[in-house]
Amino acid sequence: MTSTQVTERAFPVTPVRPPTLETLPLAVAANLASARARTRSAIMAVVKADGYGHGAVPIATAAVDAGAEWLGVTDLAEAATLRAAGLTVPILSWLNPAGVDACLAAAERIDVAVGSADELRDLLAGAEATVRVHLQLDTGMARGGCPRHEWDELLGLARRGQLSRRIDVVGLMGHLPLADQADPPTNRPAVARMHEARRAAAKAGLGPLIVHLSATAGALTDPATHFGMVRIGAGLVGIDPSETVMLHGASRLTASIVHSTTVEARTSVGYGGDHVTDRPTRLGVLGVGYADGIPRDLARDAAVEIHGRRCRIVGRVSMDQIVVDTGPDPVPRGTTATVFGPDGGATPSIHDWARWARTIPHTIVTGIGPRVRRSIG
Ligand SMILES: *Cc1c(COP(=O)(O)O)cnc(C)c1O
Repeated sequence: MTSTQVTERAFPVTPVRPPTLETLPLAVAANLASARARTRSAIMAVVKADGYGHGAVPIATAAVDAGAEWLGVTDLAEAATLRAAGLTVPILSWLNPAGVDACLAAAERIDVAVGSADELRDLLAGAEATVRVHLQLDTGMARGGCPRHEWDELLGLARRGQLSRRIDVVGLMGHLPLADQADPPTNRPAVARMHEARRAAAKAGLGPLIVHLSATAGALTDPATHFGMVRIGAGLVGIDPSETVMLHGASRLTASIVHSTTVEARTSVGYGGDHVTDRPTRLGVLGVGYADGIPRDLARDAAVEIHGRRCRIVGRVSMDQIVVDTGPDPVPRGTTATVFGPDGGATPSIHDWARWARTIPHTIVTGIGPRVRRSIG
């Protein structure tokens, strides 16, 4: 054995890997199965906001492979991306902030939700080939959806559009205002509204229609809200807003230690010296900061996992980096830290992060920035 080889062994070079968010399709499949066990209705996998930050295509693909019958997004461009990736199930787009391109919707077979007579007029004006439409009715939230007093006008216009073949009305959509509650009685007014809407649509000569009202929380807790289909977004990535069902986190964010030092007691760390060490210790720097979605305002027990131990984040979160206290043992450059993941034990979950940042887990996962590499597990 040459001395060079001995040297290499004594100082193994651990590669520094870029921060990476790994999306976990098996977790999505398990979460879809949890929902499936609680409903007889069709399931729409909602993959808006780039699949809640996990990648719309990998989440949609995992959900469809696991049996989701529909996909849901907020914009035609997002829907077109799913079509380009080879996904062929029905897709509904319900917000269309960029305006509805009726030709694109017809060509790509993208269903469009319409929430007012005005919106429907615009769509009819642009429709050359038949566009599939879901009528979105306000069921008590006053955040989009046609208000009750305008239903007759919308339904009448829809019926005429249907007769002229410019649109094909296929669905009726509502939304639960108390979507994060595991309390069926609070859903009753919206459920009654939805039944009323179905009767009104039938009376206007529309149908049969697929009726859908519920998101994740209603799907997991209240069968009265299920109708023909449930729309599940948060649940796919491991978030149950009703906090009644244990789901699986669908991503793991890792970052390498890029710099490691030993410091004395009473060393102040980071901008403003917010943290002062109370003993000699080692500090590791991770190359993720608030520009990558690490919340800047964190509770004092916020931590990452390294070698099966929680290591506290110390000092202020910077734009591109955070410092962690790795304790007395050497933690070399290149060592992988898990910022969050589904693994349990010492690994923080997105729910831990939500608590540390006084927010909801949705904002943690949708906040991960574009510099973070993506991979599929
Ligand atoms: C986001 C959204 C959903 C999915 O809600 P989750 O609670 O994430 O499952 C369903 N319907 C509409 C209209 C939405 O905007």
